[in-house]
Amino acid sequence: MMIVMKPTATDDQVRAVIERIESCGARAHASRGEEVTVIGAIGDREHVARLGLEGHEGVEQVVPILKPFKLSSAQLKPGERTVVEVDGRRIGGEHFSLIAGPCTVESRDQTLTAARMVAAGGASLFRGGAYKPRSSPYSFQGLGQEGLRLLAEAKAQTGLPIVTELMDARDLESVLEVADVIQLGARNMQNYTLLTELGRAGRPVLIKRGLSATIDELVMASEYVLKEGNPDVMLCERGIRTFETAYRFTLDLMAIPVLKQLTHLPVLVDPSHAAGRRDLVPSLSLAAAAAGADGILVEVHPDPDRAICDGPQQLHAEDFGEYLRQVERVAEIAGKRIAAAV
Ligand code: PEP
Ligand code: MN
Repeated sequence: MMIVMKPTATDDQVRAVIERIESCGARAHASRGEEVTVIGAIGDREHVARLGLEGHEGVEQVVPILKPFKLSSAQLKPGERTVVEVDGRRIGGEHFSLIAGPCTVESRDQTLTAARMVAAGGASLFRGGAYKPRSSPYSFQGLGQEGLRLLAEAKAQTGLPIVTELMDARDLESVLEVADVIQLGARNMQNYTLLTELGRAGRPVLIKRGLSATIDELVMASEYVLKEGNPDVMLCERGIRTFETAYRFTLDLMAIPVLKQLTHLPVLVDPSHAAGRRDLVPSLSLAAAAAGADGILVEVHPDPDRAICDGPQQLHAEDFGEYLRQVERVAEIAGKRIAAAV
């Protein structure tokens, strides 16, 4: 259930409603908007309905949330978008962000060169995996702790916040030392214990859509993080498996407006993993920006031909500045601006 307070409701009235909700064993999540406060009551609907909150002081109306997801639901924040702030960079709302960097951290030189080049090109955040989910156990699995150290050095040199993947809760502490945004990879989207850990970690989380996950399943994954009290969740469409074999995955552009209708969370797009080919990345990025994406997560490498993984899909770092300008133009037409440091 969703309890919409009157614009004139006082803090005491909001607190009293929260206490009533909690008195029947349900959980209350207050979301304070500019105009009104909305309180989500998560628990047994019958119990909450029996509280008769409609008649409570300061309450405008009580509306059932019909979707299985509650805290991520757009209904909870009518007319409002979640804006995640990462070290002064804003993601969501009117802001458009480019998160760029190599697939994986390979060496000091490769990482620092990539970071410097994407920073010079105008990226908002730097991405790079220290722990890599690979289809084959014989492929390079990432530099692990050493990779995290190199990411920290890249941040120290460029000032760009770091986005990196966590695959195993046992690495959470060391990832937290470096990551400004923790990426949950497509293959772990339904790892519910990891999602719960991320909910408790208190660091912004970027959830990538699973290879065969529906939109509802993606949103339910975000619900696991939000439920633990972490409000900074971003969703990322990265291509799904379809019958088409001409390219690696099918980028589901329709997911962008649909996710934005269903939820208040920022929606990003990863054109690199969808395409698996560099030549498709610019047009997919323009299309994503036109469809209203809040940002793009793109792979960029100083020397993709020598990349240890995902070489064919990584943009040449020297082309990144021009690529960003093109995407920025379309994002502006879609009503956004590239997020700049505050
Ligand atoms: C990545 O972004 O490096 C990655 C492995 O992506 P995904 O989880 O979407 O395959
Ligand atoms: Mn990759």
